Amino acid sequence: KFSYQHRLGFESGNPAGKIPLGLKRKGLRIVVTGGAGFVGSHLVDRLIARGDSVIVVDNFFTGRKENVMHHFGNPNFELIRHDVVEPLLLEVDQIYHLACPASPVHYKFNPTNVVGTLNMLGLAKRVGARFLLTSTSEVYGDPLQHPQKETYWGNVNPIGVRSCYDEGKRTAETLTMDYHRGAGVEVRIARIFNTYGPRMCIDDGRVVSNFVAQALRKEPLTVYGDGKQTRSFQYVSDLVEGLMRLMEGEHVGPFNLGNPGEFTMLELAEVVQETIDPNAKIEFRPNTEDDPHKRKPDIARAKEMLGWEPKVSLRKGLPLMVSDFRQRIFGDHKEGGS
Ligand code: NAD
Ligand code: UDP
Ligand code: UDP
Repeated sequence: KFSYQHRLGFESGNPAGKIPLGLKRKGLRIVVTGGAGFVGSHLVDRLIARGDSVIVVDNFFTGRKENVMHHFGNPNFELIRHDVVEPLLLEVDQIYHLACPASPVHYKFNPTNVVGTLNMLGLAKRVGARFLLTSTSEVYGDPLQHPQKETYWGNVNPIGVRSCYDEGKRTAETLTMDYHRGAGVEVRIARIFNTYGPRMCIDDGRVVSNFVAQALRKEPLTVYGDGKQTRSFQYVSDLVEGLMRLMEGEHVGPFNLGNPGEFTMLELAEVVQETIDPNAKIEFRPNTEDDPHKRKPDIARAKEMLGWEPKVSLRKGLPLMVSDFRQRIFGDHKEGGS
């Protein structure tokens, strides 16, 4: 049976993932499930740039070939159309498991979080790969602790409309820890807070993409409820840095990866107005059931153990996303000038 240390050619006793002094790190074989999606494609860019071989496994449920097309023809890059709900045989060193129907429009009635995670853990166990789960701040539900620490167990409705997503991820965390404790699989767990940036799905209903697309299309910004609920928005490059540090580091986690800057939805609408169109109108709509009232990560653990913290503020990151959205909504001729 392979262990992760053997895979990387290290003696046992060497800290996992630590490169012995003076030795050049050999390129790893890394699978990224959901790698054609928003976060996954940015992660793939960084891994390829680092010199690793990357296999993207994606069923294009919400992902797009366009997100990874610039790697076609690179011998270090492979793209497999596959649903992770079905078993998969590969030989790899690391698994970044991102595949997930991640938006409210798509996540209902989908077994990816449970069955897909089980399959990828089975794969990790068989080949001795290190496995990283991208869990979510939604495991905290409508939190009774603020900001949320990793030690908080959450306040989740098991039978609500959002349960398939948040309970699905909670189950995925459980499976991950069971494979770690029971089968000795090397695992890492990230709890990701709301993230935005270029390549985000334009019409999947998340608030940042909705507001940006609406402002660009000269439609009113749809604020759900009274708009006083809060979220903390992280720029995608900060998240990718955190995921890679977590994978390469020595700690299982879970780790909160998010930007502690907290905004109400009305404040977010204002930042979008400032960035795109000061005349954009706001329209109030009824809120969805079980919408968490507030959310903000406590990132002390990631700071201390991963040496990580986000660097890009909302006001710096939003314009970078706006130029990408402008291009995708209107085509190349309107590119630039955000
Ligand atoms: P995304 O929808 O852009 O990416 C998910 C990818 O998974 C897509 O490419 C999709 O086609 C693929 N996929 C879905 N089901 C699949 C299946 N059964 N088999 C194979 N591929 C499948 O979403 P994202 O924002 O990039 O999210 C990536 C991960 O990060 C997800 O696990 C998500 O839960 C987690 N996350 C994201 C955020 C955020 O704000 N973006 C917040 C918390 C957690
Ligand atoms: N699995 C997979 N690829 C592998 C190894 C396993 O997709 O390389 C799947 C396997 O089909 C099973 C799941 O992962 O559905 C869990 O595998 P494990 O070996 O842990 O459980 P078992 O098959 O013994 O129930
Ligand atoms: N929201 C909103 N307008 C929209 C979409 C969402 O006001 O057009 C609100 C939503 O009710 C929630 C917050 O924005 O309170 C964040 O929603 P999103 O779906 O982006 O993320 P999540 O709820 O998963 O944190």
